[in-house]
Amino acid sequence: MSDQNRKKPNYFFVFQNKSFVEESEESYLWAPKKTLDGKKVSHWGLMTEVEEGDYVIHSFQKQIKAISIAKSSAYTFDNPKENAEQWMPDGWKIDTEYFIIDKPIITSDHREAIKSLQPTKNAPFNKLGKGNTGYLFRANKDFFDFIVKQTAVQIDTLEEKRKFLNFCASSIIYEIESEMDDRVIEEINQNPWPSLEIVDYYPSPKVRPTAVQNSGRITYVREPMVSKRALARAKYKCEIDESHHSFTRRFTNQQYMEPHHLIPMSQQGEFDYSLDVEANIVSLCSNCHNQIHYGEGSFEKIKLLYGKRKDELKKAKVAITLENLLSFYNLEFKID
Ligand SMILES: [Zn+2]
Ligand SMILES: [Zn+2]
Repeated sequence: MSDQNRKKPNYFFVFQNKSFVEESEESYLWAPKKTLDGKKVSHWGLMTEVEEGDYVIHSFQKQIKAISIAKSSAYTFDNPKENAEQWMPDGWKIDTEYFIIDKPIITSDHREAIKSLQPTKNAPFNKLGKGNTGYLFRANKDFFDFIVKQTAVQIDTLEEKRKFLNFCASSIIYEIESEMDDRVIEEINQNPWPSLEIVDYYPSPKVRPTAVQNSGRITYVREPMVSKRALARAKYKCEIDESHHSFTRRFTNQQYMEPHHLIPMSQQGEFDYSLDVEANIVSLCSNCHNQIHYGEGSFEKIKLLYGKRKDELKKAKVAITLENLLSFYNLEFKID
């Protein structure tokens, strides 16, 4: 399951205006090795640079119709399509796994962004933002992330969104999560609340919060009071390292810390009991909190927090393995 030696993927962009239907149905990319008059062409030659695990953005009729992951590098294969006399039969084929997008974005709606994000060499779009003539071009991570994010916005259900983002190994699901976190933080920052003393705390299961539709996506209401109690029981210290200092919160006279749901609330659908419980909310300094959401190398921090909370999570009937928890953060399980 884990594969820590996996290389970083490369990103490509393919125009399949003539071939999308056939190629997506049979899960491949194909390009001839030479033109009918025997010339090599760079946008076909690029096929040989694709490796297993690389991502491909698929354009069809000016829309981003699919994202795929290469399942092989290019191998010699005669044109598998019927009625293809316009091409030399001798070509390169790459096996890919497609994720077809039901509500695709239109590339011309994002012309400026694409122009600024795409690579300078072998770019799919020209200076005017129009698609270059050809088949395969280069993309890069920023370009890919942008496409994934714009596409994800258009997906209706959180379930589908998650499927798509998981396929793209995207960390964006995470940004949605942190938006919700921010709202709780804002609530507790802006309203006075008495400083709480939580002397004894016994984790127990709590009824699952109801799902609400929020501009097309499902979210779960968080109770600010639960987060406040979670901060109190941590004695307003950072649970990564008690020596992390912040400043004094105006309303409570206690050290400022931020609540973070260790198992993201976006995963509530997978659990029978509430994730909005003290057992699942850790108290973090802003720096640690932001690192967990946006930083590299949050593996160690998640692992540390998991170690502290796994028994409590079990008692709150939201037990989870470290491996699953890490997958919610798009981190790979590694054995040290
Ligand atoms: Zn958070
Ligand atoms: Zn900290």
